Amino acid sequence: MKIIFFGAPGAGKGTQAEIVSEKLSIPAISTGAIIREAIKNGTDMGKSAQSYIEKGALVPDEVVIGIIKDRLSEKDCENGFILDGFPRTVPQAEALTAMGVKIDVVLNIEVSDERIVTRMSGRRTCPGCGATYHTVYKPTEKEGICDKCGAQLTIRKDDDPAVVKSRLETYHNETEPLKAYYDKLGLLKSVEGQEELADTTALTLAALGIK
Ligand code: ADP
Ligand code: ZN
Repeated sequence: MKIIFFGAPGAGKGTQAEIVSEKLSIPAISTGAIIREAIKNGTDMGKSAQSYIEKGALVPDEVVIGIIKDRLSEKDCENGFILDGFPRTVPQAEALTAMGVKIDVVLNIEVSDERIVTRMSGRRTCPGCGATYHTVYKPTEKEGICDKCGAQLTIRKDDDPAVVKSRLETYHNETEPLKAYYDKLGLLKSVEGQEELADTTALTLAALGIK
C-alpha cells in the first residue's frame, strides 16, 4: 500500500505513520527527518535547508522532490511505503504523479491550531535515531532518554512557539490546498485527531481498513 499521511505540523502524523509502518512492514518516510539528518551531518543539502527549517518555512520544492525521488528508488519501497510530510505543496504532489507513483490513500488527521500549539510544547526528538516522543502523549520509559537507542532527547528549534505559529501559517497557505487536490482524485480520508494517541490510532487503522 502507498499511503500519504497528511495534516498540520504536530497533528500526530509522524507517530501514526510509525505505527502503521510496523503493522504493514513498509517504510515510513519523513522528509523532515531526512532533512534534519542532513543538517546534523553538515551535508550541502542540510546547509541549504537549515535556514528555511529554522524559520518555519518550507524547504524549496526541488530539494525535497530530489530527496523523495532518491528515497523511493530504494529497494525497501518496492512493496509500498508511507509518506509523512510529503507532499506539502501542489508542485510536490504533481512531481510525485510525474514519477509514476500511484497513491492508494491520503489519510488526513484534523487537529485545531489551538491544540497543536499546546501539543508542540511537549514534543521531544531523538538526535540519535530520529524517533519522536511527547512528554504527555507518548512518554519514554526513562524521562528524556530514547527508548529505541538510549540517546538524550532534544527539543527541536522549530518547536519554539514563535516558529510553530509560522509553521501553521505555512501549512494553511501552502499545504492545506492539497486536501482539495486529493479529494478531487477520490483519495482523501479524514480522521479527527483525538486527545489519546491510541484513539487516533484506532480511527486511523479503521480508515485504512487495517485490522
Ligand atoms: P512537522 O510535520 O511537525 O512540521 P516535519 O519533520 O515533517 O515536521 O518537517 C519539519 C520541517 O522540515 C518543515 O517545517 C519544513 O521546513 C521542512 N520540510 C519537511 N518536509 C517538507 C516538504 N515536503 N517540503 C518542504 N519542506 C519540508
Ligand atoms: Zn533514538
